[in-house]
Parts: sequence; structure tokens; C-alpha cells
Amino acid sequence: MAILITDYLEDTVKTYPDKIAFVDRLHTITFCELRKRAFCVADSLIDRGLIKKPVLVFLEKSVECIVAFMGVAYSGNFYSPIDTKMPMERIEKIVGTLSPAVIITDEKHKEVATQFSNGAEVITIEKYNTGYDPQKVLNRTKKIIDTDVLYVLFTSGSTGMPKGVIINHRAVVDFTDWICKTYSFDENTVFGNQAQLYFDLSIQDVYAPLKTGATTVLIPNRMFIQPLRVWKTILECKVNTLVWIPSMISMFANLDILANVEKAPLEKVLFCGEVMPVKQLNYWIENYPKTIFANLYGPTECTEACTYFTINRRFNDDEVLPMGIACENSETIVLDEHEQLVTEPDHIGELYMRGTCLSLGYYNNPEKTKEAFVQNPLNNSYPELVYKTGDLVRYNEYGELVYVSRKDFQIKHRGYRIELGEIDAAATSISGIEYACCVFDSYEDKLILAYKGDVTEPEAKKQLEAKLQDYMVPTEYHRMDHMLFNLNGKVDRKAIEKIFCSPQN
Ligand code: AMP
Repeated sequence: MAILITDYLEDTVKTYPDKIAFVDRLHTITFCELRKRAFCVADSLIDRGLIKKPVLVFLEKSVECIVAFMGVAYSGNFYSPIDTKMPMERIEKIVGTLSPAVIITDEKHKEVATQFSNGAEVITIEKYNTGYDPQKVLNRTKKIIDTDVLYVLFTSGSTGMPKGVIINHRAVVDFTDWICKTYSFDENTVFGNQAQLYFDLSIQDVYAPLKTGATTVLIPNRMFIQPLRVWKTILECKVNTLVWIPSMISMFANLDILANVEKAPLEKVLFCGEVMPVKQLNYWIENYPKTIFANLYGPTECTEACTYFTINRRFNDDEVLPMGIACENSETIVLDEHEQLVTEPDHIGELYMRGTCLSLGYYNNPEKTKEAFVQNPLNNSYPELVYKTGDLVRYNEYGELVYVSRKDFQIKHRGYRIELGEIDAAATSISGIEYACCVFDSYEDKLILAYKGDVTEPEAKKQLEAKLQDYMVPTEYHRMDHMLFNLNGKVDRKAIEKIFCSPQN
């Protein structure tokens, strides 16, 4: 039984040394090559005297990125991948929170990385090809324990500060063991990776190959604007397993792609991260009647998925798919507003999660950690933390959990998790804007910014583009004479929603 994720690779490299582990647009890498290159990176980090330190990985989705992750893991440090397209202002906030010891990048991104490095050493991955002492690296892994941190993933923060979710080896091993067992992933599995490697949805794409000898094809994210090219890659690489966000699966259905292409031999299609609309799922099921489909649910704070529902019956287009039941070693607790357990069908409560999947908290952010990771309200006998998901759920008549809505102002747009407060904070930081409120029109799937100030709408958009990631930048702007406030004197998001969002919202 693996304790560290590096143990997966140590085992698999013996069984499948020359099998291809990862494929990107330009390269392939076998398990043996991956281990060698990861050892080179690890060796150099050990030589720098680093242990249990954050290492920022500033690389595009690629084989190199996996080499960096594994190198950091073997060295007993932990990685934090960030988007190479992220605006400088947001990167600087993350660097400020994380204070990385080292930044791993490539020649292409070295100059940018040096700009935000804030004193951290910038190293380029191309250098780490040869020369390492395997015993040194193996000795280092003996010093790592399963509760040591593996990575920190940054998600949107409501006050404008991204939050770094800390995940340890144990949580990833546990999740990977569970998903591989439940969906029979093995050496014949070929994942068509869609998620960026800085999102939790990519976890099985990275770690299931290390455990089982499967292969992951890293599909470039810009390719997804041309779904037919994605399909061609799926066919060429003989992809048989997808774990994608529902927006992407729906896009293929909405474009009726499957009607005009050769069928790829898809055995399993899993989705996670937001509500999967049944109409679009039914389109896939009609085209792939023998394929296994499953709805996974989970926040980054619970590693990836902590509940699952394998589609086992027919759903009408207007029904909601269940989120199912808890994954192994996790427990779902539904509590009402008085923190009383909800067990009856159709009573709505907030979902709390318990188990190995839980994050250790937010990096360098004790306040936010305390708000979200709380003592289990059902246990006053000993310390036991549970995670308050902020998701409202109910049980259906089969005892399966069903997602209802969010409790707060967190939304999912194009599959990305966004705190509307982060957009508000970025907009109000623009000189000339006094008040700003971003609302989400879920019917039209668009972000709308209402603001008061003497900045023109195109200028507001331009400035936000420099502060936020592209998927967070509102597409519609309304400059208002007066901002609307509620009785508590807060910006009235509900009233603004009513004015600018579609009535079906
Ligand atoms: P993230 O941290 O990006 O994985 O986002 C976590 C949030 O996405 C959850 O708290 C939910 O609000 C939402 N989410 C994740 N999976 C599902 C699902 N299967 N159905 C509905 N919402 C989901």
C-alpha cells in the first residue's frame, strides 16, 4: 500500500518502465524517463538544502510540468502550479502568500518568472536532464511522511486574495486508490486530460498513471476552442477515459459533434466540478449506450471528489442528477441552520465533509482556514475538523445526495470556480471606481459588472483584464449614477441581479 505518491512511481516503473506515461503536443515520456528526470529535479532541490518548502511551478500544461511536480515531491518539498497566463497582479498576490523558495519554469517563461520572483531563485526545467544521485533522492523520501504537504492549489478568494488549498500525500493517495478501484483504471486506461494542471480536476490524470501504468494525453487547453481537433486527438491517441468539467461535455453535445465523427472507444466518461445538465448527458448516453458515466462532486478543499454517482438509471431532461454518496474514507454530513442533522428526504441543509480527503487549510491564511474548517458540530468529545462546503444539498427518495445551490456568492462559470467578491475587489481597486458589484447571469452564462465611478466601460474592462484571469473578466458593464445598497448598507447584489440578469436567472 502506497504511503507517498512517489511510491506509486517507484512500483510502476518496475512493471512498466518503457510504457508511455504522459503525452503532450510535442513530447512523450515513459515511466522510466519520468522517474529519471524527476530525480534530477529532486537532486537539485535537495542540494539547495530545501525540505518542506513551497516550490512554484510556472509552466504550461506539459510533460515538463509533471516532471516538475514529481521532482518536487521526491525532494520532500511541495509544489504550487500557477497559470502562465495569469495577470501579474494576481501572480504577485499568490507569490506574496506562498513565498516560494524556488520557481521552476522553462526558458520561454523565465523572464516573466524573474519579474515576480520576489527574491526566489528561478530555475529552468530544461537543465534537469542528466546527473543525479539516486540514493540521495531515495534517502530523502524516507524523511517524508504521508501527512506532509504534496501541493497547494490556489482558488478564488472572496476578499480578492486567492486562497491556497493545502493537500497532503495521504489525501491524494486515498483519492487515487479510490477512483482507480471504483472505475477499474489500469494499464489499459488512456485518459484524455482536459483540466488545467492547476485545478483539482486533473488529479487522477496526473496520479492514476503513476499508480496503474495508465497513460494520460495532456490535451492543450487552447485546442478546446476547436472541438473537432480535440476529437481527432482523442481518436489518434486512443483515449478511452474522460474526466472533464460538465461545461466541456455539454459543449460537445450542444454542437452535436458526435453525429459527424468517428466514434472514439470511450469506456468511461466522468464529470465533476459543477452541475451536469441531464439533457446534454442524455445526448452522450444515446451516442454511447455502453459507456459508464458518473457525476463526481467535490471542492478543491476535499482533494477532488468526495461524493459520486455512477449513472444507473434513466433521467429525464428536466431532472437533476444526484451527487450520490460519499467516496471511501469520506463522510457527508448535512446540517440545517441550527446545526442539526438532516436525514429526511427533501429537507435542505449545508454539506459538511469529514475524512482523509480534507485539506490542511489555506496557506498562510489562518482566518479563512478557521471559517471553513471547523470542529464537527456533532462531536464535542475530541478535536475533529470538518469542512463547511457552502453547498446546499438534500437527500432524494433513494437516500442519494442532490446538489441544490450555493449558500454564498461563489459561482461556476465555464467550469471555473469564482468568488464574485474577488471581481468586486479587483474592480473597486481601479482608480476612479467607487463601488462595484459583479453578478452572474446563469441563464445567459455571463458575468456582469455594475459600478459607480468616472471610468468608461471599455476602460473598466481593460483594467480588469490586467488584474484578473480571463474567465473572471465580466463581459457586460453598467456604469450607474447611484450604487444600490441594502438595509445593512451593503451593496445590494440581489437588486442588481434583478435589474441586469435575465428573468430566468
Ligand atoms: P472546485 O473547488 O473548483 O472543485 O469547486 C468546488 C465547487 O464546485 C463545489 O463546492 C460545488 O459548489 C461545485 N461542484 C463541484 N462538483 C459539483 C457537482 N458534481 N455538481 C454540482 N456542483 C458541483
